[in-house]
Amino acid sequence: MNLLEELSRNEPSCLGQELYAFAASIYPICRSITGDGIRATLAAIQNRIPLNVSDIPSGTAVFDWTIPREWNISDAYIKNAGGNRIVDFREHNLHVVNYSTPVHAVMPLSKLRPHLFSLPAFPDRIPYRTTYYEENWGFCLSHRQLQSLEEGEYEVCIDSSLADGTLTYGEYYIPGNSSDEVLFSSHICHPSLANDNLSGIAIATFLAQFLSGRTLRYSYRFVFAPGTIGAISWLASNRDAAKRICNGLVLTCVGDEGPFHYKKSRRGNAQIDRAMARVLRDSGEEFTLLDFAPYGYDERQFCSPGFNLSVGCLMRSVWGTFPEYHTSADDLSFIQPLALAKSARICVALVDSLESDVRYVRQNPYCEPQLGRRNLYDSSGPDARTANLARLWILNLSDGDYSLSDIAERSGLPFSAIQEAARTLRLAGLLSPVGASLHDD
Ligand code: ZN
Repeated sequence: MNLLEELSRNEPSCLGQELYAFAASIYPICRSITGDGIRATLAAIQNRIPLNVSDIPSGTAVFDWTIPREWNISDAYIKNAGGNRIVDFREHNLHVVNYSTPVHAVMPLSKLRPHLFSLPAFPDRIPYRTTYYEENWGFCLSHRQLQSLEEGEYEVCIDSSLADGTLTYGEYYIPGNSSDEVLFSSHICHPSLANDNLSGIAIATFLAQFLSGRTLRYSYRFVFAPGTIGAISWLASNRDAAKRICNGLVLTCVGDEGPFHYKKSRRGNAQIDRAMARVLRDSGEEFTLLDFAPYGYDERQFCSPGFNLSVGCLMRSVWGTFPEYHTSADDLSFIQPLALAKSARICVALVDSLESDVRYVRQNPYCEPQLGRRNLYDSSGPDARTANLARLWILNLSDGDYSLSDIAERSGLPFSAIQEAARTLRLAGLLSPVGASLHDD
């Protein structure tokens, strides 16, 4: 069974719509690195997959970091002299600098101004700002609105709390035949931002549902944690599990219509790096491969020297480079159902590739077997050349040293053609597998 074929056959025409609808349903939640927004998000994921939720108390040391106090917020506003809310958290949660300390005061514009943030280059957008590790407070607003503020007194209120609590993350583990794990990780800490956050959550959740209940070669672990401190917390609490991660992917910014980007693991030539390159090549989608760099998302933690895991990062548009990034323009109009569905297909193709990436040996390695006699040499049909070539490549390279992906890479043929040829040759008794494969029967 080929997972990608199955997805295509069973794919509800509405897969993209489903992914989009899930992202839309959790878009309004005011998330942060701790607090009720994270719990509500995990609860929404839990409605789809049986997540295991962990709470790490404030003050706990996680490697060089300390779990901060928990932040929650119920309301925030700036009122003008007429008592009207001119900046209102209820209208958009980006209006408040995330992790702002509570404040309730009346002050002149001159004192308020250092606490106001806008984007002069995009005067209609609200920026996304945080102050996780420095106690401060602030509001974000459109530059147009900032410029329209008149001198005078303003009532400023941020009804937030910073108190001992927990940092929360969720994970879901699907056991396979091998205890070697494939990790999918998605950050869950951004408030109402669609591409940078919700797209990854939606696709990771779908993938977990899709793989759940299957007989699999690898075990799969899905981690939904707040960025940086959440990944660090998970790693600090799961050092043994981390050792079993043989391949992993951080999913983020996978819902916009930009071309795909895959950022390689720190190793640069790990199985995941080669598999993603091949999957993207075979997909026919536009893509770029990026070398590892120690900035970006949680691959930074997974690829830190003590772990050095084979974990890359899949994106469409690259964080920090698209103008909607970390602004109110990264909203539900910026992500598209079709783009989400294509990203989901790439992830399924990756799993398919990892699951099927086995090595074979020739039953009789001396010279080529006579394929015509076995009806294995196609002389007509549109795919005959590819099918014949794929069989010849496999028959030549199946000495136990080359996996199917090695053969796909070396031949330049699509992985699906190599998979199909391997299945045919195996059924004809010409090959036997080294190790187990689940998709060749
Ligand atoms: Zn971000």
